[in-house]
Amino acid sequence: MPIDFHFDNTYARELDGFYVQWQGDTAPDAKIIKFNHELANVLGLDADALNSKQGAAIFAGSVAPTGSNPLAQAYAGHQFGGFSPQLGDGRAILLGEIVDAKGQHHDLHLKGSGRTPFSRGGDGKAVLGPVLREYLMGEAMHALAIPTTRALAAVTTGEEILRDGYQPGAVLARIAESHLRVGTFQFFAARQENEKLRQLADYAIHRHYPNLQNAENPYVALLQSVCGAQAQLIAKWMLVGFIHGVMNTDNMTISGETIDYGPCAFMDYYASNTVYSSIDANGRYAYGNQPKMAKWNLARLAESLLPLIDQDTDRAIEIATVEINKFDDIYTHHWVDGMRKKIGLSTVQDDDVDLIHQLFTSIENQQVDFTQLFRALAGAATDEPSEVFDLVSHSDDFKLWIARWQTRLAQESINPSDRIAAMNAMNPLYIPRNHLVEAALNATVNEGDMTPFDDLLAVLKQPFTPRSNAEKYAQPAPADFGPYKTFC
Ligand code: AMP
Ligand code: MG
Ligand code: MG
Repeated sequence: MPIDFHFDNTYARELDGFYVQWQGDTAPDAKIIKFNHELANVLGLDADALNSKQGAAIFAGSVAPTGSNPLAQAYAGHQFGGFSPQLGDGRAILLGEIVDAKGQHHDLHLKGSGRTPFSRGGDGKAVLGPVLREYLMGEAMHALAIPTTRALAAVTTGEEILRDGYQPGAVLARIAESHLRVGTFQFFAARQENEKLRQLADYAIHRHYPNLQNAENPYVALLQSVCGAQAQLIAKWMLVGFIHGVMNTDNMTISGETIDYGPCAFMDYYASNTVYSSIDANGRYAYGNQPKMAKWNLARLAESLLPLIDQDTDRAIEIATVEINKFDDIYTHHWVDGMRKKIGLSTVQDDDVDLIHQLFTSIENQQVDFTQLFRALAGAATDEPSEVFDLVSHSDDFKLWIARWQTRLAQESINPSDRIAAMNAMNPLYIPRNHLVEAALNATVNEGDMTPFDDLLAVLKQPFTPRSNAEKYAQPAPADFGPYKTFC
């Protein structure tokens, strides 16, 4: 029996010229190493049928499932500020769009399925460690209610791929609302193919923002909507200390989902200039720079849309500039809203923004664990703030801040246990801590032991709920873990 994905392939059908039809390589020995039953169920797929030898061959890219239309998508992108007119799926293919019970379309995309016409010098492959890392990070983000692509399955291919020595080849089967990127627009804008640009914009509106179809100027409305979705997304990243690491325009989605978990990491000690990526030498994508870089990327989207916004270029620039300049306020609104909740405020006062900024100033470079601090604040909201002071023992500024914050809390008439519950629902206890992620991946790749990975994944799926015997998942890295570096 062929597996039924309920495919509908609108991208292939409606966007001729935006891709190259392409097949994955044949994997010598495809095996599912991790399968996401929960996501399969959400998508209305037959999990048992998929979690099989037949499923492994499909997820490796070896066999195109019935109803699919495999293709490699074209896109361009600014990478660390420099424009590449042609990037595209160099190691990935889109199999098709799975239609769920509500009629929603979800891309099924394979990452690591072999070379394509967009591969340039690359080998088109992916290896097990990074594939499982993306699996874990995506699930952690989803559990934190942050829009993200998600892994449906991770497969090993039976190949050995040359990286830092030979490593097991792997493919990630990934689900996204779509893989439309800022870079997809840039691809056609750079070629001055305005009709294709319009086709793409119309497609994006229809797929992601259908209520804009009747807007006075749908393309301005599209820009507005993407800016809004990204402002909200970046605020969510900032609120949990997520550092994407490679916010190039080809890694920024039109849907507002987090995509491309390469060198990303969660911040351990709070410092606004934190960078983990080995290739981000200048800190372009440092924690504190993320809102600014998102705005920069959105300005590149705005530039790409100019010919659609108005035939008069000066007028189009004027309109687009107004939209881009709204970003800071929209972002700040989402961030302050989230920060209020993180520090237990349920009412709004004018100087809350100052209160929040004062907190960050008081903990900058104090070696305070970001996640632990916010979680511990709930305790300090009612009792003596001893646990919090254990975390930030040597900052007088922080002591002053706690006093100011407690005065502010006292102005709200909320039941203390309700406040604590609300704070605990906002401040995760468990995040994918770098040392735990590394240990889990090493155990799998080097020892073939998936237990640490499975245990960590289980904890991260309920990040706000304390578990028994899970103390180690809430602790910072031991001192001998050393400075952390991530790789693409
Ligand atoms: P990224 O930095 O992961 O967003 O990737 C940037 C570009 O490099 C995209 O066009 C990818 O398809 C391409 N790419 C990354 N890794 C490989 C690889 N191993 N082989 C071919 N292309 C790759
Ligand atoms: Mg990418
Ligand atoms: Mg990548």
